[in-house]
Amino acid sequence: MEKILIIDDSPLQTAQLNDILSDEYEITIEQTAEDGFDRARAGNYSLILLDVVLPAMDGFTLLKILQEENNTKTVPVIMITALSDIEHEQRGLTLGAVDYISKPFSPLIVKARVDTHIKLYNYRRQVELQSKTDQMTGIANRRRHDEYSIDKWNDAVRLRIPFSICMFDIDHFKAFNDTFGHPAGDKVIASVAKAIASYLNRSTDFFARYGGEEFVAILLGDDSEKVFEYIKRIRQAVEDLHIPHDPSVSEWVTVSIGGITMIPKADKSYEFYLKMADAMLYDAKKMGRNRVVWADENIKQLYEK
Ligand code: GH3
Ligand code: MG
Ligand code: MG
Repeated sequence: MEKILIIDDSPLQTAQLNDILSDEYEITIEQTAEDGFDRARAGNYSLILLDVVLPAMDGFTLLKILQEENNTKTVPVIMITALSDIEHEQRGLTLGAVDYISKPFSPLIVKARVDTHIKLYNYRRQVELQSKTDQMTGIANRRRHDEYSIDKWNDAVRLRIPFSICMFDIDHFKAFNDTFGHPAGDKVIASVAKAIASYLNRSTDFFARYGGEEFVAILLGDDSEKVFEYIKRIRQAVEDLHIPHDPSVSEWVTVSIGGITMIPKADKSYEFYLKMADAMLYDAKKMGRNRVVWADENIKQLYEK
């Protein structure tokens, strides 16, 4: 069931709204703007019904705050106003409420407006998700990587947690395409992505297609040696798919991997370390491919084989 948050201090009004909506939606009720904000931020609501007149902080002030908070800024808000209060209506809509409903409620109109806005919200979320997903592999695309990496980098600078950037590149892929054709190459990209993704299933793991046959992963929390050990297993897992390669270059399709683990510092950027990870990948290629080269904070390298 989709969740609706009602922020309203009148028990009569919330009981009416609850009657109208609770058959189809999971309803949460809060009576003050402060409690409503805490709820909204913590929960996954598809819609917020917000009374304009509340004790202490009013609905308009809360609306502004909701729109500045990352977790709530895309959630549609419908304002509840007294009938014929045009000024309130206008103010709410100008501030970014998607709609208003006026008291006394007409159950049919309340239900219809709520349904419409939840439908629109879900549609928008789906389009947004699609625009950040790589069609060939189903994993995050470059655009999503660019957004996510900056957010996570800023979090990690604040929290001072170990941060790893890992770049993968399929070996001799041009030769693969030349031998088996581009469509077969596309399938390999999808299979390799799936194999790698199956190892990156912590909630804090991130994995994206960075470009043609290149992928990037971001991992949080573990030190360089631990990550290096784990990434070696991923490299082996790709080799163990036993996808036949162009025999003149190698028996199976493999990946080279470069990465770095550090504690993020505010005076360095994500891009700076991404370039370092890329330099490690370059070394892995130079050293013969199908291997992992990892660096720690002091660029002390760990080599495989
Ligand atoms: P190596 O990385 O081992 O140095 O050699 P490579 O041949 O893989 O290197 P390079 O980066 O020069 O070539 C990458 C090739 O990947 C070029 C292109 O033919 C292929 N490629 C890139 N994107 C796609 C794609 O979406 N589908 C297919 N089938 N091939 C792609
Ligand atoms: Mg490449
Ligand atoms: Mg390559």
